[in-house]
Amino acid sequence: MLFNYFCPACGKVIPSDKPVWRCECGGYLDLDYMPVLDRSKLPDEKSMWRYSQVLPLEKINPDLLFGEGFTPLLPMKFWGIDVLGKLDYLMPSGSFKDRGAALMIHKCHEMGIKEIVEDSSGNSACAVAAYCARAGIKANIYMPAGNSSAKSIQARAYGAQIHLIPGSRTDCADAALEGAKKSYYAAHAYNPFFLHGTKTVIYEIAEQMNWQVPDYYFTPVGSGSQLLGVYLGLKEMLNAGIIDRMPRLMAVQSNHCAPLKDFAEGRPLCNPVSQSIAEGIAIARPVRLNQIIAAVRETGGDIVTVDDTEIVEALKLSFGQGFYIEPTSAAAFAALKQYSGKIKTGEKVVVSLTGHGLKASSKIESLL
Ligand SMILES: [Zn+2]
Repeated sequence: MLFNYFCPACGKVIPSDKPVWRCECGGYLDLDYMPVLDRSKLPDEKSMWRYSQVLPLEKINPDLLFGEGFTPLLPMKFWGIDVLGKLDYLMPSGSFKDRGAALMIHKCHEMGIKEIVEDSSGNSACAVAAYCARAGIKANIYMPAGNSSAKSIQARAYGAQIHLIPGSRTDCADAALEGAKKSYYAAHAYNPFFLHGTKTVIYEIAEQMNWQVPDYYFTPVGSGSQLLGVYLGLKEMLNAGIIDRMPRLMAVQSNHCAPLKDFAEGRPLCNPVSQSIAEGIAIARPVRLNQIIAAVRETGGDIVTVDDTEIVEALKLSFGQGFYIEPTSAAAFAALKQYSGKIKTGEKVVVSLTGHGLKASSKIESLL
């Protein structure tokens, strides 16, 4: 079965077997695909591929898989609030991005693509490099020079070619575009297959909660691939009659770089004022900004900004419970403190633990 891409900005429709990465008008592409999960046909398998019925692939190639997903959902406590933590830092390359990379690189493999370009400084680079290693695809990763070394080492270790680009993030994106002229630009921020991978997290959570959804879902937001994947999965489950309401989607950003807040409040988007400890969400111009805001608004959610002091406090509370996550992940817990007065007793809160602390050990050392 072949699905079509469509461009929400201009309405153009493109078959999804064409190696395009965005619309001619410059907009991102979505997929014309609304699958219905038949829960009576779920396999025994406990991984994200348990939901392959609702994944837009011709066929699943077992040689490309790591058995990834179905991460634990465990109780945690922050400032007296009971929370369920989704342990996606336990994915193969150490972050939730593996869900997206698994689908996106699977699709590249299906299309016979032998070489890709990706533009990322962090967890996406590691995830894409890991899946390319598994699929025998050459990965070219463009990163701003002087970036967090642990992640570039990890991506390099998987065999990716790292291109360090001096200058700003935009210079890096431009260099990646130039490099992509010779291969395929597997741009995670644009690619809708990536979101159909990240959506599996909410199917897992719903099933782990006995096919219920929480009242709140807190997640750090950079390019929005977690929040938008969750939104996509929720829409599918709502449409299938599996759930009858959506949780409030809570988008958490650092107040060093909060384009969502600026956009939502009608201000021009600012540039990051300084480096935040939560480097993973320091994306000044998210490609899907309007889509993220729409998802937050539709679900009655909110945009919460936190400062580094709050992030460090949340990080230490997380370590103290045995969860070794990276600072960006802790931003979502930091936001809980601001929201503690609004969450009613008995309401269920899920927080995504997006990335592993082992990738940020040198930064964590300076905080201890
Ligand atoms: Zn378009």
